Amino acid sequence: MRLQPVKTINRYLGGFISLFYPNTCAACNAILPGNVQVLCTWCMHSLPETGYHFGEKNPVEELFYGRIPVEHAMALLFFDKGSRYRRLIYQLKYQERKENGIFLGKLIGSRIRNSHFGTIDCIIPVPLHKAKLRRRGFNQSAIISQGISRILGIPVIENVLIRRSFTATQTRKGRYERWKNVEGIFECRNSCSIVNKRILLVDDVVTTGATLEAAGSCLLGIEGTRLVIATAAYSTT
Ligand SMILES: [Zn+2]
Repeated sequence: MRLQPVKTINRYLGGFISLFYPNTCAACNAILPGNVQVLCTWCMHSLPETGYHFGEKNPVEELFYGRIPVEHAMALLFFDKGSRYRRLIYQLKYQERKENGIFLGKLIGSRIRNSHFGTIDCIIPVPLHKAKLRRRGFNQSAIISQGISRILGIPVIENVLIRRSFTATQTRKGRYERWKNVEGIFECRNSCSIVNKRILLVDDVVTTGATLEAAGSCLLGIEGTRLVIATAAYSTT
């Protein structure tokens, strides 16, 4: 009972703040009703889902053929140039809209739960270099992982996979150059906690798969590990 006044004040303040900073749809910027989060009903119903995890042909899995043994891979959304849904990730990374990451993670978790991917033991997000982590304050892939964890009920492990060095921006590089650029940038510590585990490796966006390949091959170097990959988006540009 004693909490009641605090709750009332919070609700009052929340309403007051939303007068000046209304909750808006991450994709189309429409003002959202108080009980709706992240995407408006229209954007939610037009989500550009790949559906690859349900199909025979899975271009995200094919990215890793002949590179590393990935048991399954999925990307939740198409991420075409100009798509309004790109703002989900942009806002997560640069405007600290962490709720976008939790939202994407929950969707990924529910799609994996309904797929043929099978049982997964733990989730490992692709890490940022510690200097970048300090600057940004959080790892967007770890936030997405938390959302997945809420649905699948498995732990997120962040003290095993470590990023050693910075890489230059990858956007203008070809596939081989990208691979050279990320080769050897990850290392594994405290690896006994993932021995014999089936791991879900998580990143925000997959393009060529070079970063996930480097991180994945590091994890696969640990005894008995198996790999499943999930990203929030698949970009071909
Ligand atoms: Zn919208």
